[in-house]
Amino acid sequence: MTEQSPALDNLLTENRTFPPTDEFAAQANAKADWYDKADADREAFWAEQAERLHWDTKWSQVLDWSGAPFAKWFVGGKLNVAYNCVDRHVESGHGEQVAIHWVGEPGDTRDITYAQLKDEVSKAANALASLGVTSGDRVAIQLPMIPEAIVAMLACARLGAMHSVVFGGFSPAALRSRVDDAEAKVVITSDGQYRRGKAAPMKTNVDEALDGAASVEKVIVVRRTGEEVPMGERDVWWHEFVDGQSTEHTPEAFDSEHPLFILYTSGTTGKPKGILHTSGGYLTQVAYTHHVVFDHKPGEDVYWCTADIGWVTGHSYIVYGPLANRATQVVYEGTPNTPHEGRHWEIIQNHKVSIYYTAPTLIRTFMKWGEDIPAKYDLSSLRVLGSVGEPINPEAWMWYREHIGAGKAPVVDTWWQTETGSIMISPLPGVTSTKPGSAQRPLPGISAKVVDDTATEVGKGGGGYLVLDKPWPSMLRGIWGDDERFRETYWSRFADQGFYFAGDGAKYDNDGDIWLLGRVDDVMNVSGHRISTTEVESALVSHPTVAEAAVVGASDPTTGQGIVAFVILRGAAAEGGDEAVQELRNHVAKEIGPIAKPRQIMVVPELPKTRSGKIMRRLLRDVAENRQIGDVTTLADSSVMELISSGLKSGK
Ligand code: ATP
Ligand code: MG
Repeated sequence: MTEQSPALDNLLTENRTFPPTDEFAAQANAKADWYDKADADREAFWAEQAERLHWDTKWSQVLDWSGAPFAKWFVGGKLNVAYNCVDRHVESGHGEQVAIHWVGEPGDTRDITYAQLKDEVSKAANALASLGVTSGDRVAIQLPMIPEAIVAMLACARLGAMHSVVFGGFSPAALRSRVDDAEAKVVITSDGQYRRGKAAPMKTNVDEALDGAASVEKVIVVRRTGEEVPMGERDVWWHEFVDGQSTEHTPEAFDSEHPLFILYTSGTTGKPKGILHTSGGYLTQVAYTHHVVFDHKPGEDVYWCTADIGWVTGHSYIVYGPLANRATQVVYEGTPNTPHEGRHWEIIQNHKVSIYYTAPTLIRTFMKWGEDIPAKYDLSSLRVLGSVGEPINPEAWMWYREHIGAGKAPVVDTWWQTETGSIMISPLPGVTSTKPGSAQRPLPGISAKVVDDTATEVGKGGGGYLVLDKPWPSMLRGIWGDDERFRETYWSRFADQGFYFAGDGAKYDNDGDIWLLGRVDDVMNVSGHRISTTEVESALVSHPTVAEAAVVGASDPTTGQGIVAFVILRGAAAEGGDEAVQELRNHVAKEIGPIAKPRQIMVVPELPKTRSGKIMRRLLRDVAENRQIGDVTTLADSSVMELISSGLKSGK
């Protein structure tokens, strides 16, 4: 411990814990002694995890870190990622098992077995190969959540081509910059997509994006909504071009370090970064984490991750992890309130979903809609609940456990990033006594620490910077085309120690469990106290009238920064008024201390969020400091900022 003031004050305390039941523990995939086992010999531990996969050639070295920060895992090993996710399950006699229960937004459905998935992926691989797509080429994919999205990704992996998936809601400009950055040869898209019950165009946006895009030779168009679309010279229909291809395709084995995909980060803090992932280490860690964190049992569980394929969660926990582990999963195309607010619970009931993985933003939305909605459905099949994307407020965690998990399904709060490729910090169901709001502990095989400015680990109860101090198999292998930005962004802050700096603040509680406290860029400095936005937001959300809260530090002449909170109130309380606001300020002071009492609380109808549901605090800081609003291109709905600003001007 050092004498300096802490990097982050520790305000919120939480005493509730939920030990696993004996029944759950007895059947759990994860074992308590794995932590020690992995610590004793990290490389041997990961080598054992890599045995989950089929390798055409075994590796000769587990880790080569001599070129740090560029890692090589399973050096000399060769494998085909798509073979591992599809073919081998058919070969082991599970071809008839359903891989994907697909549910379309308008109510249409498709069940796809592993044998059918193998045929579809082989056809798509043959189609791409006939266009000259080959190992190392880049293919951009902008599709809604339809089976072809997964098929297209696997077809690329099968050929050793890299995919760059772009979220379906992104603008032509956002697609174009990603296509140009990766110099994509082929783009795969659809005629349109369903959004909130209506067909919206997709192909026309893609045409606009690709006007003059020199690298693009072909555009493959999946028919989804059936609307008229102009087909130009370089365009082909998926059903005309892919469906007639042969279902025979021999997968080639690629080097363990062969690139698998590029994916751009959410852009919550600034310009998105093109994160590069490779094959063997990535697939090893997504398969391992999906197995232990969700306690997944192939052939028994029905798994559902609600992410979009355009985010890393869709890559790792819809495509690669679950399929490598022979999961049967639900893939849902639409929004959670189309056609009604019980849509998710209805799907869980119909498909007997047993593992459900979603984001805090959605859980808070469900809370706002009311617990009487899930109460109408039979959710008794659920046995593990996951959360990812943002810190989950303790009250949202409790609601999730009580109202969705019937007070018994373990909740796993999983911390990770596009850059880490897979889950890094999370409880293990059946092993860990869970705590509302805490991601708790690095997984066996992973090492993470909370350190201060001098890279010294803080003690129990202390706060600081979250770092990863040992390489891990699914770590990013760089930023596409920009090695310098890679070193600068992640490795320069603690260069002497060789730590990866994640950009997030965190603390240890008195048991030594880790709590994520949001971005360090968002940490507030109030009269010399370093206060995390997450803790103040959690205190606000713990008040019964508050549905959602976002907190920022605005410059203040006397205290350095003052805390400004934006809150969405629940149904009946929605009007707000001075008294309600005063009560909330006092509530925060009571929950975590007078220093954290917000200077100002603004009642708003919505909060600015990225398409993956993360609150964009930098825009709210612009509002709080009366500045011109910054770049809104990665917002899900850019009109939200106008709504917020105009509501404030009208005196709310
Ligand atoms: P950019 O890096 O472009 O600003 P981003 O960081 O939002 O975008 P992602 O990689 O999608 O892009 O998100 C990773 C971040 O999400 C983490 O760094 C962390 O801040 C947050 N996060 C994810 N899961 C959790 C979690 N369980 N608890 C707390 N924070 C989480
Ligand atoms: Mg980030």
